[in-house]
Amino acid sequence: MHELAASGTVAFIGLGAMGTPMAARLVEAGARVRAYDVAEKARSALRQVGAESCATAAEAASEAQLVILMLPNSDIVENVVEQIHPVLQDGALVIDMSSSEPLRTRALAERLAPKVSLVDAPVSGGVVGARNGQLTIMVGGEPDQIDRIRDLMSVLGTLKVAGGVGAGHAVKALNNLLSATHLWVTSEAMTAGQQFGVDPEAMLEIFNGSSGRSGSTENKWPNFILPGTYNSGFALALMLKDMRIATELARDVGLPSRLGETAVERWADAAAGLPANADHTEVARWISESP
Ligand code: NAD
Repeated sequence: MHELAASGTVAFIGLGAMGTPMAARLVEAGARVRAYDVAEKARSALRQVGAESCATAAEAASEAQLVILMLPNSDIVENVVEQIHPVLQDGALVIDMSSSEPLRTRALAERLAPKVSLVDAPVSGGVVGARNGQLTIMVGGEPDQIDRIRDLMSVLGTLKVAGGVGAGHAVKALNNLLSATHLWVTSEAMTAGQQFGVDPEAMLEIFNGSSGRSGSTENKWPNFILPGTYNSGFALALMLKDMRIATELARDVGLPSRLGETAVERWADAAAGLPANADHTEVARWISESP
């Protein structure tokens, strides 16, 4: 484990499925973490692991040079930045680790400059990766600002530089469009194979030794779908948000993603037919039960 006491105070805002284990790792690694979430339950979980729990986002951010955001979407990120902006120190760096919208991220960085910098650093690897410090962290920003977060990020996972501000958020959304499309077609294939009479575990083993493998066949199906737990910790609504960011990006650059647009429609159908808080892996069950 790294020694982060020298990094100074870190504010961590957004202590949900991902933020809680990530902030806990930073505390364990020796960082002074001032944490905030609108939910008191989340704040008290962080107090128990040694973070300083704050009553407002501004209180958490006021003493920090580094401010991590792990929030649901760009609307909430912008709202929180509005709240903390007046108290941010000169030279502070906001690290948006949420899966936000790349163009809004660029605009936010421009609004904060030059007093405050912003890098986007969304992640892949899920709740298990967050707990184990094995996230892939896709970073967009100025090289000198990225260098400021290397030690901190090494506690959470592996940093991959995507490009300038917004590039991390763009790649994250595109990654999730791929991931969601794989999961959908894998679930169709698994359902068809099972209805033909093939054993699902045998099928996964064969896919995983063949060219049809993906994160869906290697991780999601064996760990959350086949056991029937559907508890990956990543909400279907958040996946659909990311897919829409990716297809909008493709439209913005003049290359509409036809398969991606269809995937968004299918996932939106599933979202309409499942509870609002459904885990994203529940699309597999939905597909198997849909006529
Ligand atoms: P989550 O819904 O579990 O957590 C979000 C947290 O933000 C909640 O605790 C909520 O109370 C808090 N929050 C909402 N509004 C707030 C505000 N105004 N001020 C302070 N706190 C506020 O979501 P999550 O699964 O932890 O995901 C967080 C981000 O990471 C999302 O952008 C998501 O798309 C992304 N992500 C999630 C996963 C995953 O596997 N869960 C993986 C990669 C990326």
